[in-house]
Amino acid sequence: MPEGDTIFRAARTLNRALAGKPVVRFDSVFPHLTRVHDDDPITGRTVEEVRAAGKHVLMQFSGDLLLRTHMRMNGSWHIYRPGEAWQRPRRSMRIVIATADFEAVGFDIPVAEMIRGKDLPKHDELRQLGPDLLSDAFDPAEAARRIRARPTDEIADVLLNQRVLAGIGNVYKSEVLFSCGVSPFARVERLTDVQVECLVATARKFLRANVTDHLAAMTTYTGFRRTTRRADPKERLWVYGRAGDPCRTCGTPVSIRPQGRDVRLTYWCETCQPSIS
Ligand SMILES: [Zn+2]
Repeated sequence: MPEGDTIFRAARTLNRALAGKPVVRFDSVFPHLTRVHDDDPITGRTVEEVRAAGKHVLMQFSGDLLLRTHMRMNGSWHIYRPGEAWQRPRRSMRIVIATADFEAVGFDIPVAEMIRGKDLPKHDELRQLGPDLLSDAFDPAEAARRIRARPTDEIADVLLNQRVLAGIGNVYKSEVLFSCGVSPFARVERLTDVQVECLVATARKFLRANVTDHLAAMTTYTGFRRTTRRADPKERLWVYGRAGDPCRTCGTPVSIRPQGRDVRLTYWCETCQPSIS
């Protein structure tokens, strides 16, 4: 599943390509989107802004209409020049929004809806998002408060909960816990305030580091994350995806276990992240 930094970059790329430009073509396989388009065309509207909210991509059109998409596991947005060959098969196309200069194609996007401006404040999923780790207005104290509000949950599950903190996916979950020396299975009530503060600050640091704007190229999905600060791409993560390999700090083989209601894989070092009993 794409994490918050991937969505943030995708939204930023879409914004650069489309913002301020009128839509010249709209296409979708979703009947609920084409119905809106038939009644009140998307073509002719200006793309005002594309932004990320947690893992949602929000595309604001003139005339007070918003397209919300969520990538879930396999969805992605690509940007093409008109006439450029798509990198995915046509059958994977879900939405096309074209301006005179660019064509934005949403592939395998499972969740898409048009929202009228007046309905936005009532939108459950968006309203319930926790503090967005990539927002300038991020409030660490509110994030800590929301974590503390789930005292009996295991901390790894809490970090994935988008109502607590918006933006962390399964990769950063393991990486952040390792960096703070916190067992993924510790219940929130057993954590110190210093540990909770470390998790919040580190999550924000990692996500922000991966959206720094060193490449202005129109790429929508690099999939490249780095948390170790090492240059070699093979050494870019501490524990995620490294089951059985030696911990980069102490040499203990990295452990792996499915965790939580959604049985997401958790990677951790039993020595550096001792269990709290
Ligand atoms: Zn270790």
